Amino acid sequence: MGIKRILIANRGEIALRIHRAAHEIGIETVAVHSTADADAMHVRLADHAVCIGPPPAGESYLNIANIISAAEIAQCDAIHPGYGFLSENAKFADIVEAHDIIWIGPKPEHIRTMGDKIEAKRTAGALGLPLVPGSDGAVSDITEAKAIAEAAGYPVIIKAASGGGGRGMKVCNGPDQLETLIQQAGSEAKAAFGDATVYIEKYLGNPRHIEFQVFGDGQGNAIHLGERDCSLQRRHQKVLEEAPSPVISAAERHRMGEVCAQAMRDMQYRGAGTIEFLWENNEFYFIEMNTRLQVEHPVTEAITGVDLVREQIRIAEGRPLSVKQEELEFKGHAIECRINAEDPFTFAPSPGLVTYYHAAGGMHVRVDSGLYAGYKIPPYYDSMIAKLIVYGRTREGCIMRLRRALEEMVVEGVKTNIPLHQELLRQDDVLNGDYSIKWLENWLEEREV
Ligand code: ADP
Repeated sequence: MGIKRILIANRGEIALRIHRAAHEIGIETVAVHSTADADAMHVRLADHAVCIGPPPAGESYLNIANIISAAEIAQCDAIHPGYGFLSENAKFADIVEAHDIIWIGPKPEHIRTMGDKIEAKRTAGALGLPLVPGSDGAVSDITEAKAIAEAAGYPVIIKAASGGGGRGMKVCNGPDQLETLIQQAGSEAKAAFGDATVYIEKYLGNPRHIEFQVFGDGQGNAIHLGERDCSLQRRHQKVLEEAPSPVISAAERHRMGEVCAQAMRDMQYRGAGTIEFLWENNEFYFIEMNTRLQVEHPVTEAITGVDLVREQIRIAEGRPLSVKQEELEFKGHAIECRINAEDPFTFAPSPGLVTYYHAAGGMHVRVDSGLYAGYKIPPYYDSMIAKLIVYGRTREGCIMRLRRALEEMVVEGVKTNIPLHQELLRQDDVLNGDYSIKWLENWLEEREV
């Protein structure tokens, strides 16, 4: 069914990204916004806009009743949730579909399965994805827990089944601490997520974060669009992402990508998804699957030429995937820098009035941002204000162009992490692609001395 008008249940750069994809194929857009975002670019560019509540996200961007009412009032036939907010809320997806509105996202049952970490791991294992060794489900009994930890080998990590955003995890170095840490993890998980269920995994000492982009049509056809390396992280927040990964060979990409695509075929997965792995000593270990579009999707777009948002819309309309696996080529190299309004080295948020803004430009430079001079960055939401995505035929060329683009980018009135990115792109380990998920935090610690 052809979609005519999409409600974009999000804000900031991703709302703009969806608006752009929709307009390029003749679909109208309806922005929703909190009172704090009345002047935001996503509201200005959309065909229509509806205010859905006060600044706190819980009363606006997470307010299901208000968003559904907005969709009905504005006569939208589809909803795109973007990332974050309600994008992985299976109940919301159910409600959207119950209102005969097209949900531009995966089947609600798959969102639900992947949202529960134990269930997700079990499903991934059954689909043939390699897992981190550990408990097969929840652990409660301490004798059993000790046997599992012993078999996996210390150190182990205790994780909350309902955890998210890197919270609810404890590393345990030996059997003496196990009981105490399991109890602590359980009660913290109960307080934070309302669910005390925990499980155990082997703790990998120095892995990389490598994720595969997948797409399914919901009928058993699925493809993979290669991997992204998102190892440069601070407190589990990605800072810079690249595609392809500097450590994955074409043969390995093909092999692992096919394992992921086959898993999606078996599941009859619908829409965009990301299968996240830790990678150590040439082995992949599944950690989770995100049933939505990712912040870092543009690096995949840059090396494949596929518009992932347009693809999401096509699939939601019930049309087939626009490309076959054998037609996909991975060409060149792309890097994304997340530009945040924050102090580049203390990471303290820096909201407020943007007095001057000049975006980088030129060949193979893409800036996804709702920023403009005179815009007031509200303090209520994520601090990411722009994504700078640069493409080059080689990784080296991409880095040279990225440095040039970062020099051009000007944001005045608030602090940004542009200086952090500039310094990162001068580090030998980054230039050599020689980093793990620990690298950035270690480097920041040493840098402060
Ligand atoms: P969340 O849903 O909270 O993001 P994940 O399972 O994706 O939780 O894990 C978040 C991060 O925690 C990973 O990116 C990695 O840095 C670290 N981590 C998770 N599991 C392990 C493990 N088994 N060994 C080492 N680090 C891990």
